Amino acid sequence: MRLHRPKLDLRTLITLLAIASIVITLASSLYATWQVQREVLITNTLESNRVYATKLASTTEMFFELARSQLAYSAKTLSQDMQNDALMESEVARLREQTSSFNSTVVVDANGWVRAISPDSLMLKGIHLTTDATRQALTERKPLISQPSISVAHNLMVFVSYPIRAADGTYLGFVGGTIYLKKKSILNELLGEQFYRDGSSLYVVDSENRVLYHENNALIGQKIALPIGNGVKQKSGYQLVKDNNGATMLASYATVATPGWMIVAMKPAKATLTPLSSLMLKVLQRAIPFALLTLVFAWCVARLIARPLGQLARNASQMDAPGVSTEIGVIQSWYYEAAEIKRAMLTGIGLLQDKIGRLKFEVQTDPMTALLNRRGLNAVLEYFLATRQSFSVLALDIDHFKRVNDSWGHDVGDSVIKNVAQQLSKSSRQTDVVCRNGGEEFLIILPGADREMAAVIAERVRKKIEQLEIIPVGHITLSIGVALWEADDTPLERIFKQADDALYAAKHAGRNRVVVSHQLEESAQEIYRQLG
Ligand code: GH3
Ligand code: MG
Ligand code: MG
Repeated sequence: MRLHRPKLDLRTLITLLAIASIVITLASSLYATWQVQREVLITNTLESNRVYATKLASTTEMFFELARSQLAYSAKTLSQDMQNDALMESEVARLREQTSSFNSTVVVDANGWVRAISPDSLMLKGIHLTTDATRQALTERKPLISQPSISVAHNLMVFVSYPIRAADGTYLGFVGGTIYLKKKSILNELLGEQFYRDGSSLYVVDSENRVLYHENNALIGQKIALPIGNGVKQKSGYQLVKDNNGATMLASYATVATPGWMIVAMKPAKATLTPLSSLMLKVLQRAIPFALLTLVFAWCVARLIARPLGQLARNASQMDAPGVSTEIGVIQSWYYEAAEIKRAMLTGIGLLQDKIGRLKFEVQTDPMTALLNRRGLNAVLEYFLATRQSFSVLALDIDHFKRVNDSWGHDVGDSVIKNVAQQLSKSSRQTDVVCRNGGEEFLIILPGADREMAAVIAERVRKKIEQLEIIPVGHITLSIGVALWEADDTPLERIFKQADDALYAAKHAGRNRVVVSHQLEESAQEIYRQLG
C-alpha cells in the first residue's frame, strides 16, 4: 500500500501560522486604534463645540442683561418727565448711538403712540404701533424680549422693551430697542465672529425653533426641524443626531435662559473623522516595519524548529540504508519532541538492523553446525567478487561416511558432522569462511591464499581430522580438493568445479589426501571422470 504523502511541510506551516497571526494582530490593533481614535475625535469635537456654544450663550445672556439695564436706566430718566419731547428725542438717540446695542430705539406711550424714535429716517414718530411686539409690551407692562417679528419698517427683528412707570407706579409706556436679525446688528456680530469653525455650523433658534442666526441668511426667520428638541432640560450638552439626509451629525448645544433661545453647533461626523484615515495610514506605516521584522524573525525560528524534524523525516524514509544511524546521530534535535523522535528512531533502526541481521543469519546459516550454508557463502563471495579479493577454495568430503551411518546410525552420523564442523571452524582464521555445502561436504574459503599456502592449510586440516578421536566412531578421514581464484575473469562456478574435480581426484587416488586443482592435467581429470 502506498501511503499518501502530504506536500505541506512543517516550516511552511509555521511560517503560514506566523503570517496569519501577524496579519490578524495588525488588523485587530488597527481596528482597535481606529475605534478609540474615532471615539476620541467625536467626543472631543462634541465637548469643544459644547464649550463654544456655552460661551456664546453666556455672552448673549450678558448682552441681554446689559441691554435691559440700559433700557431700565432710560425708562427711569423718561419717567420723570413724559411730556418732554426733547428729552425723549435725546434719550432714544443716546441709547442707539452710545450703546450700539440696538438697530433702532423707540419710546411709546401707554396708548401705543410713538413719542420718539431713532433713527429719524424711520419716519414713525406720531404713529400708533400695532405690531405683536408692541401690543405684548403694552399689555404685559414688564421687561420683554419679543419673538422674531417683522417691524413696521419691514425688518426681521427681535424687540427688547422696558416699561416706564411714574414714581407712583402709573404705567406711562415703554422704551424699547430693535435688533435686526438679517442686517448687521450686535447679535450677528457677536455670533458671526466665528460662525463657521472647522466645519461646524451654528444655529441660534428661539423657543419655537425659528432661526435667529445662521451663516446662511436665507434660513433666518424660518422655522426649522432641529434634531434637538427645545425640550432639553440641561443648560448645555451634546448628542449624536441624524440630519434630513440620514447623515450622522455631532450636535452640541447651550441655552440662553432670558429669551429662551438655544445655540446649537452642528458638525457632520464625516468631517470630524476626516483626520482619522490619515492617522490610520500613519499608524500602518509605523507598524509595517515591525510586522516585517517579526515576520523575518518568525521565518528564521520556523526554519530552526522545522530543521531537525525535516532531517529526521528525510531519514525516516530510508531507515534500512547503511550509515543512516550516523546521519541521524548528527541531527541537532534541540527541543523535546525532536529529541524524543530522534531517540526513538535510533532505537528503531537498532532494532530493525538487529532483526535484519538475525534474518540474514537465519537464512544464511546451517542450523545443525552453525556454519554458513551455501546461500551464506554466496553472499560472501559476492563481496570478494565486488572487491576483487582473490581466494583459494578447499572442497572437503568425509570419506566413507555411509559406513558411519550404517554402523552407528544417523544420529551418530550427525554428531560426526558437527564434530568435524567444529574442528574446521577452530582451525581456520578469522578471515577464513567455513561453509557446510550439504551432507558431509564442506567448503573453506581462504582469502588472499595462493595455491601453495592453500595446500599447506588443507594438509594441516586433513591431519587434524585424521588425528581426531570421535566417540564412538573412532577416527575418520577427509579428502580435500583445492582451487584458486586469482581475481581474474574466470567465473566462480568454474573455480568451484575445479575444486570439486580435485576432490574427486583425491577420492580416486585413495582418499585421505589433498589434491590441488592445477596439478591435474585436463586429460587426467577427464580420465578420473570416466572412471567415475
Ligand atoms: P566417499 O568416501 O566416496 O565420500 O563415500 P561416502 O560413503 O562418504 O559417499 P557419499 O559421500 O556419496 O555419501 C554420503 C552419505 O552421507 C550419504 C548420506 O546417507 C549421508 N548423509 C548425507 N547427509 C547426512 C546428514 O546430514 N546426516 C547423516 N547422518 N548422514 C548424512
Ligand atoms: Mg559426499
Ligand atoms: Mg563422503
